[in-house]
Amino acid sequence: AKANGRNGTHVFDAQASLTDNEDRNLAVILEQAVERDHLSLVYQPIIDVERGSVHAVETLMRLRGADGVPIPPSIFIPVAERTGAIIQLGRWAIRTACAEILVAGVANKVSVNVSAVQLREASFPLFVAGVLSEMKLSPSSLALEITEGFDISSDSKMLQTVSALQRIGVEIWLDDFGTGYAGLSWLQAVEFTLVKIDQRFLQSCETEEGAKFLQDILHLVRNRGLSVVLEGVETSEQMAFLRKVNVPLAQGYYLGRPAPVGGAQSRGSARFEA
Ligand code: C2E
Ligand code: CA
Ligand code: CA
Ligand code: CA
Repeated sequence: AKANGRNGTHVFDAQASLTDNEDRNLAVILEQAVERDHLSLVYQPIIDVERGSVHAVETLMRLRGADGVPIPPSIFIPVAERTGAIIQLGRWAIRTACAEILVAGVANKVSVNVSAVQLREASFPLFVAGVLSEMKLSPSSLALEITEGFDISSDSKMLQTVSALQRIGVEIWLDDFGTGYAGLSWLQAVEFTLVKIDQRFLQSCETEEGAKFLQDILHLVRNRGLSVVLEGVETSEQMAFLRKVNVPLAQGYYLGRPAPVGGAQSRGSARFEA
């Protein structure tokens, strides 16, 4: 049965499965986050280091609690997935990112992270198509990043949603490659445009063995004709490695930190220049 929350607002059933008070408080914050304006988006450039241009910007969600204190995505995203609030949050993120980046002409391409929960919703592709046509945007200017944290390759419902999105013309990117349990079966199940290699592989590159391992992963992905982004570039040594192995696309604090549009770190049209 549906429970009634504070002020008689609707509370998701799944809230009952949230273990402690902290999670239940967070669930209430999340449910009201969009209408109370507690959410914002920051964007991090994905740099084409060969051309010296911005390939795209990745959208990252930020949440403030009632006291104004920021709550990190690693805390609130899993709770939003369990309560179902991620459906509303995710839609808000796509609509806002398209407006702030594409309509405003800040960059030519924007990527937005999507959860498995969103991909299980059959009406999701229709929503995405609606936003694109309403804002008169080219579908290929939007990329959706999905992670390996769940096994999509055996979930026919999710695969159907992904193909519907691809028929619209939206790009589907595989995020955090190499970290999930599903592993290689994903590359067989879905025709990705681009694969993002998790930052841990670049971090372990200081050792000869780590560098060799990353090169093996790069061969695998590139042999399948996919574009590659190396995540988590933090040092000039890592930049040198990137050039050595001819990876043109990269993302990380060294190249640009996540920032709001028109934020303190950005200035005019130069805001996402390398
Ligand atoms: P992700 O999609 O892998 O995003 C990259 C994370 O690494 C971001 O953390 C980013 O701020 C951080 N990062 C970027 N460059 C560097 C670097 O050079 N070094 C290090 N150490 N970290 C770097 P953030 O913003 O805290 O997000 C964490 C995760 O939360 C994201 O990982 C993503 O899985 C999830 N997330 C964020 N926003 C959304 C969203 O709108 N929807 C969904 N479903 N998930 C989101
Ligand atoms: Ca991502
Ligand atoms: Ca990632
Ligand atoms: Ca991650």
